[in-house]
Amino acid sequence: MTKTVRSRFAPSPTGPLHIGGVRTALYAYLYAKKMGGDFILRIEDTDQARYVEGAEQYIIDTLQWCGLTIDEGPECGGKFGPYRQSERKDIYHQYALQLVESGNAYYAFDTPEELDECRTQAEQNGQAFKYNYETRQTLSNSLNLSEEATKAKLEAGEAYVIRLKVPRDEEVKFKDIVRDWVTFKSDQLDDKVIFKADGMPTYHLANVVDDYLMKITHVIRGEEWLPSTPTHVYLYKFLGWEDSMPEFAHLPLILKPEGKGKLSKRDGDRLGFPVFPLDWVDPDTQEVSNGFRERGFLPDAFVNMLAFLGWNPGTEQEIFSREELIEAFSLERIHKAGAKFDFEKAKWFNQQYLKEAPNEFLLTEVKNILLEKGITRSDAFILSFINLFKERAVFIKDMIEQGYYLFESPKEYNAKVVKKKWNSERKPVFFEIADQLSALSTWTAEQIEVVLKGIMEKYALGFGDVFQPFRVLISGEAGGPSIFELTELMGKEMVIERMKAGFEIFDRMTE
Ligand code: GLU
Repeated sequence: MTKTVRSRFAPSPTGPLHIGGVRTALYAYLYAKKMGGDFILRIEDTDQARYVEGAEQYIIDTLQWCGLTIDEGPECGGKFGPYRQSERKDIYHQYALQLVESGNAYYAFDTPEELDECRTQAEQNGQAFKYNYETRQTLSNSLNLSEEATKAKLEAGEAYVIRLKVPRDEEVKFKDIVRDWVTFKSDQLDDKVIFKADGMPTYHLANVVDDYLMKITHVIRGEEWLPSTPTHVYLYKFLGWEDSMPEFAHLPLILKPEGKGKLSKRDGDRLGFPVFPLDWVDPDTQEVSNGFRERGFLPDAFVNMLAFLGWNPGTEQEIFSREELIEAFSLERIHKAGAKFDFEKAKWFNQQYLKEAPNEFLLTEVKNILLEKGITRSDAFILSFINLFKERAVFIKDMIEQGYYLFESPKEYNAKVVKKKWNSERKPVFFEIADQLSALSTWTAEQIEVVLKGIMEKYALGFGDVFQPFRVLISGEAGGPSIFELTELMGKEMVIERMKAGFEIFDRMTE
């Protein structure tokens, strides 16, 4: 019988989640769902110094906004809880002790000052200090102290950490689904602290113990964790869990648009786009970091865009519903190379989703934005407005920005058009248009078209001579959606009023 796939997302609540973290969650989710398995959220909050208020809620809100439903986690619980490491504190110590007893870990009593001194000395010799097979022989630890001396220190309550005793001169090999076989030399590793002086495990121990106890089958995480994996492989081995070691898939970095280096918040600030899913207010500095949600992205568009940052389905198709993504996703098709972030492409995805968005949804959204501005209109009016403006919009709010003149007077009139097309000879043409439009008994796009085209022909004028100044008269803008439909939507009264006011404004502009 094959095991049920259990993947997990194991973020540390140290600040807002970068989009790279959301992508990790997404891939872990897609894989679990594709395999009919479970997606688990585990909060890795053992590093109390880096804990940031509000960060866990931010993670939960992000997953919810993206529709990445959790099967087990701190809020919904599950068979293998608790799912917050700070609530599992008591579990880890016994495993650290087990490793000491089996000779695979040891107590280290070196003070922070002593270790600093080691670092300074190594630096003076042009080296970086490593607590490893070489240096551990000269340092203050249970490998060098007698059993009694160690016991005495422990009983006296002296501060200690527990370090993993990494074997000398070995090769650590593991298979990564994205990178195939990865080999590290054990001599490159240091004796990582697995249990800290504050009574908490470090990331390495807690992560491995929990993945084992929670029966995680697939560890899907960013490639920055690849160098930690050999330490984890040793932990599985020394704890006797080699047979249930999960499979690993290390995901490529999300790169700056230029392609060099990891995408950072600074790149977003520099280039004017968000790198976080939701707005985040730093609890200490009150500094606000922008989110995709607040920028106007639809969650499905955001998720679709993210899916393609490091993976492709091997076909030309780019727009995928959630079900299609689950169906098409595979760990084997994840790229090894980093994925360049492209904000224009992100906007393209949103535009595609906006075009397809159901009218009822858009109606509610547009109505809410208008309401915030104190504007109310009938549903029928708003729906026609949406139909007219949605083609060109990237975000919902673009529609209102682009078609603002339907809700208030034009702020400005396109000076170029006015200067070029408005003169005493042309004026009567537009007076006549105003008269004919006023006289219309049915106010439809078709009738409006008949009037405008009729006048164009009568005076042997081109489109640009008639339609463009007419559009500027009623909207102030030189471009926009179909002029006949726009005129219909505006309504006769507004159009005639705008034209009359426009005549005077145009005169003043050309004086
Ligand atoms: N807590 C780690 C993080 O913040 C988890 C890495 C992993 O998935 O093992 O990303």
